[in-house]
Amino acid sequence: MATRLQHYIGGEWVDSNAPTSHPVTNPATGQVIADCPLGTATELDAAVRSARKAFETWRRVPAQDRIQYLFRLKTLMDAHAEELAAIVTLENGKTLSEALGSVKRGIQMVEVACGAPSLMMGQALEDIARGIDCESVRQPMGVFACIAPFNFPAMVPLWFFPFAVACGNTFVCKPSEQTPLSQRFIWKLIDEAGFPPGVLNLVNGGKDCVEAICDHPDIEGVSFVGSSPVAELVYARAASKMKRVQALGGAKNFIIVMPDAEMKHTTENVCESAFGCAGERCLAASVILAVGDAHEAVREGLKRNMEAIVIGDGSKPGVTMGPVINAAAKERVLKYIEMGIAEGAELVVDGREAKVPGEGFFIGPTLFDQVTPDMRIASEEIFGPVLCIQRVASLDEALAVTKAQPLANANSIFTQSGKAARQFRYEVDASMAGVNIGVAAPMSFFSFGGAKGSFFGDSKAHGREAFDFFTDRKVLISRW
Ligand code: NAD
Repeated sequence: MATRLQHYIGGEWVDSNAPTSHPVTNPATGQVIADCPLGTATELDAAVRSARKAFETWRRVPAQDRIQYLFRLKTLMDAHAEELAAIVTLENGKTLSEALGSVKRGIQMVEVACGAPSLMMGQALEDIARGIDCESVRQPMGVFACIAPFNFPAMVPLWFFPFAVACGNTFVCKPSEQTPLSQRFIWKLIDEAGFPPGVLNLVNGGKDCVEAICDHPDIEGVSFVGSSPVAELVYARAASKMKRVQALGGAKNFIIVMPDAEMKHTTENVCESAFGCAGERCLAASVILAVGDAHEAVREGLKRNMEAIVIGDGSKPGVTMGPVINAAAKERVLKYIEMGIAEGAELVVDGREAKVPGEGFFIGPTLFDQVTPDMRIASEEIFGPVLCIQRVASLDEALAVTKAQPLANANSIFTQSGKAARQFRYEVDASMAGVNIGVAAPMSFFSFGGAKGSFFGDSKAHGREAFDFFTDRKVLISRW
C-alpha cells in the first residue's frame, strides 16, 4: 500500500482524517508512489489556529534572530539538494538536472529572505512640520498561506514562506496534491532546523482545502500559483473575504525572432525554452513569431535541435526530456495536436510518434508551422511539449499579435538590433521580458509574475515586493 501522507501542524506530523485522497504517481512509470489525503476544512483550521498562536510570540522575535532559522534551513537544503531533486523528478517527471536547477533557485529564495533585517526597514523623516517627526515601519500581519501548482513542487512554495516568516508572520502551505512529496521533504528539514512550533505548517489537500484557505477569517493573505481560471477564482474568493491576494496564473509565451537574430544561439535557446521540463513551465516558449526572412532559419534550426532531445525517465542519465505529469495531461496535449492538424497548421515534428516503453506519460517534442492567430493552438495554454511557428511581416505585427492575447506572462525577442530590442521592451505587455533569453525567469532578488490574465493582484512573488506583500506599513507621526 502506498504511504499515506501526513500534515505538519504545530511542529508535529499528524495523520489526516480526510475521507478522500489523491494517488500520487511517478509520471515516468505510472506507478502510484504515495497517497495524498485531501485535507478538510477542519484540518486546515487546526493549522491556522496553531499558526495564529505561534504568531503572538514569533512576531516579537527580532528579525536578526528569526533569520537564524532560515540560515539553518539553507544549510540543510544545500546538504540535501540532490536528494530533494531526486524527489522532484520522482513525483513530477522532469530530469534530474532540471530538478536540481529548480531546487537551487528555491534555496536562493531562502538566502534573499535572510536579508529581512535590511529589507524590512522602514523610512523616517524629521520635521515633516515644525517639531514633528514621521516614520513608517513594516509590521508582520499574522497568518499567510500559499497554494502551489504541480510543476515546480519544491521551488514554488519557497517563493513565499521564507519571506513571510522572515517578516515575522506564520504560514500554512498547501502543495499540489499531485506532487506533495517535495514539500514533505522540505518540511522535514524545517523540523530539523528547529523553527518554533506553529510557525510553518503543511496541510495536504485539493479544492476543498483551497476554498477553506480563501474563507478562513484568520488568514491575512494568500499566495496562489496555478492555472488562470483557478487563479481568478482564488483571487475573487479570498479578496471577498478581505484578504491580500497575489494569484499567479497561466501563460501563453511568445518569442519574436527578428531576421538579424544570431540563429544558432536563438534556436538552441528557443528549443530549450519550449521543451525543457516537457513544456510544463509557465515561462515555456509556446509560439515563435518569425519576422520576415527569419522563418526558414528558425524552422530548420528548431528541427535540428529537436532531433537531439532524448525522451525518457528523467532519473536516467542521458535523458533530456521527461514525461508530462499524468494521463489527463497527456490526453489534453494529444487533443491539442489533433486540433492543430484540424485547424490547418502544418505538423513538422510529430511528438505522437515518440515511443518510450512502459506506462509513463510521454509525448515527444512537437512542432507546428503555418500557425495563424485564429487557431486555438496559437492562443490557448497547452502546457506540454508543443511549439508553434507563426509568420509575421514586421516587429509591429509581432507585438500586435502578443497584445491581442489575454495572457501576458513572459515574452522574449531575439535580435542584434538595439532599436528593435528597445521597442520590444517598451511596448510588450508581458511583465517578464527577455532579450536574447529564452526563459525570462527573474531570480530571487527580483520579483516574479506576469500581467493581464497571467496575474491577479499587485505585489508579485519574491524580491523586494515580497516585503510589501508580507508586511503592513504603519506610519507614526510624533511631537514631543
Ligand atoms: P491548477 O490551477 O490546476 O492547480 C493549482 C492549485 O490549485 C493546486 O494546489 C490545486 O489543488 C488547486 N486547485 C485546482 N483546481 C482548483 C479549483 N477548481 N478550486 C480551487 N483550487 C483548485 O494548476 P496546475 O495544473 O497544478 O499547474 C499548472 C498551471 O500553473 C499552468 O497553468 C501554469 O502556467 C501555472 N503556473 C504559473 C506560474 C506563474 O508563475 N505564473 C508558475 C507555475 C505554474
